[in-house]
Amino acid sequence: MIKNEENILVEIIPVLKDNYIFLVVNQETREAVVVDPAVAPPVLDYINEHQLTLTHILNTHHHRDHVGGNLALKEATGAVIVGYINDAHRIDGAQMLVEDEQQIELLGLTIKVMAVPGHTLGHVVYYIPEKRWLFCGDTVFAMGCGYLFEGTYQQMYSSIQLIKTLPDETLIFCAHEYTLTNGLFALQEYSDNLQIKKRVDKIKKDRNVGKITIPTTIGAEKLTNPFFLARNCEEFTRLRQAKDVF
Ligand code: ZN
Ligand code: FE
Repeated sequence: MIKNEENILVEIIPVLKDNYIFLVVNQETREAVVVDPAVAPPVLDYINEHQLTLTHILNTHHHRDHVGGNLALKEATGAVIVGYINDAHRIDGAQMLVEDEQQIELLGLTIKVMAVPGHTLGHVVYYIPEKRWLFCGDTVFAMGCGYLFEGTYQQMYSSIQLIKTLPDETLIFCAHEYTLTNGLFALQEYSDNLQIKKRVDKIKKDRNVGKITIPTTIGAEKLTNPFFLARNCEEFTRLRQAKDVF
């Protein structure tokens, strides 16, 4: 089977205050997979308008602003709800339970599940190696990282080290538009870092005209994300604690 890679795209649907829902669409088969549907209606509108079949719902973690649309979408489309096996009990409607490092085949793509405890204990990310796309929920944000609701600093630090092993050109689809605040915090911590300064200027311009700052890349985060720049867990911990009160 010949796969035309250009036929697969990611659609970003902004919802609620600052959430992003991602739809991965195979334009050839007209099938789609949604990642972290906070709410159902905009997803249904999109798939109806574009005459798509929603086959699966991928959840990164159990928070409402990521699973809130699960049941309504399943009801309307019959899509299968996918979630981490360790968190099956708290992900609405979870049916297809996946494990750390499991590979699943959807839309003609191989999707790798990676456990990244920290924001929550049962947080996973979904990585598509052949596209170099990472759907990372609330683990990594542009210039930031997720708040530690459940995990330890060491766990989140290790999760970020794992994500840093992905290729620099990997596109990171983060679930929230937190970039400007994150950038201002980064500037406070690294006031003499010119790359951070430059990036924050660009972010300000983009946000002034309502432009989405997602996706980012592993390469960009390695250069300008304080939590990627942290050289050890102690430094990471200090930064995370400072960000909590920023
Ligand atoms: Zn969350
Ligand atoms: Fe969230």
